[in-house]
Amino acid sequence: MADKIYNFGAGPAMLPEPVMQQIQQEWLDFQGMGISIIELSHRSKEFVAVLDEAQSLFRELTELPDNYRILFVHGGARMQFSALPLNFSGRMPSRKCLYVESGNFASLAAKEAQAFCHMETIASSAATDYDCIPELTSDQIDQGAAYLHITSNNTLYGTRWNQFPETGDVPLIADMTSELLSRQINYSQFGVIYAGLQKNLGPSGMAMVIVRDDLLGYADKQTPTLLNYTQCDKDNSLTNTTSTFAVYVIKLVLGWLKEQGGVAAVEKLNEQKAARLYQVIDNSSFYRGVAQPEYRSIMNISFKLANDELDARFLQEADDVGLYALKGHRNVGGIRASIYNPMPLVGVEKLARFMEEFEQKNG
Ligand SMILES: *Cc1c(COP(=O)(O)O)cnc(C)c1O
Repeated sequence: MADKIYNFGAGPAMLPEPVMQQIQQEWLDFQGMGISIIELSHRSKEFVAVLDEAQSLFRELTELPDNYRILFVHGGARMQFSALPLNFSGRMPSRKCLYVESGNFASLAAKEAQAFCHMETIASSAATDYDCIPELTSDQIDQGAAYLHITSNNTLYGTRWNQFPETGDVPLIADMTSELLSRQINYSQFGVIYAGLQKNLGPSGMAMVIVRDDLLGYADKQTPTLLNYTQCDKDNSLTNTTSTFAVYVIKLVLGWLKEQGGVAAVEKLNEQKAARLYQVIDNSSFYRGVAQPEYRSIMNISFKLANDELDARFLQEADDVGLYALKGHRNVGGIRASIYNPMPLVGVEKLARFMEEFEQKNG
């Protein structure tokens, strides 16, 4: 029998098998309607029920305070890089928006914002190739700024914020694309949280935006209707045709997450999965972790071997035994294991053993 495939890709990433089985099962006949979910109007009561349930499951899983709105928006995470300054920089006459550069996506977010506001990068770890989260003190945060933007988990380098910065009255905005619902956080620390869905939650092309309601209503006049969060909220994410399939899949993934015991239970398992791989890295001089230990992500584990030739052999032999998509991002090189919520412990254990054996043969 062929090896079971474990997909370590960074995104689009693996989804829980029971979710995909359910999709398959009801593909031709959604809830006895005799049509498929993707043939169903976004305005139908059946679809609106799916959307409402996705929102209420998210609220329940996160214990989200009542004054936060949940939006489903187009264009994945990077579309929000433009939408954020358009929606929020007008809150303050300064139009000043602060950014922390902790990796590739953080840097892209800042670059995109330059067109729409007075963007200022107040801290960066570029000088050490993003192997850490940069130091940030409260006196660096101008209280006249419209917001401070961070990337909570840096997908390429495998670093994360362990403690989120105290920002005073300045709303904290976090790109949580590669870690939303993987750990418990206090949502009331944030003004806005957003995430492209294809890493931990569902199909690509869509994002969720969680926004504190007092931050709505400040969009610039020229904001395109479909990037306007206030409009999106008014229309319950149905200003135009949403990706109905994506919303349906998210709902199923959230239901699966609840069955696993919720975010606290999944976080514990995620810690265990990450610890197993870091243990192999730390017990070896053959593998070198990309992130400084105190900033390590539990979602993306990036490491390097001694040279390109060993990287290539590692990837080929891993692929041969069903350990798929372990190639590091082109900006970083080496290997990256993305172990989002749906990755089972057995998949991680198989990779850890493979790493140990590969070292014995080649170290
Ligand atoms: C993958 C990723 C993005 C880009 O997401 P898209 O949906 O492709 O735009 C942005 N930010 C982070 C942190 C990511 O991991």
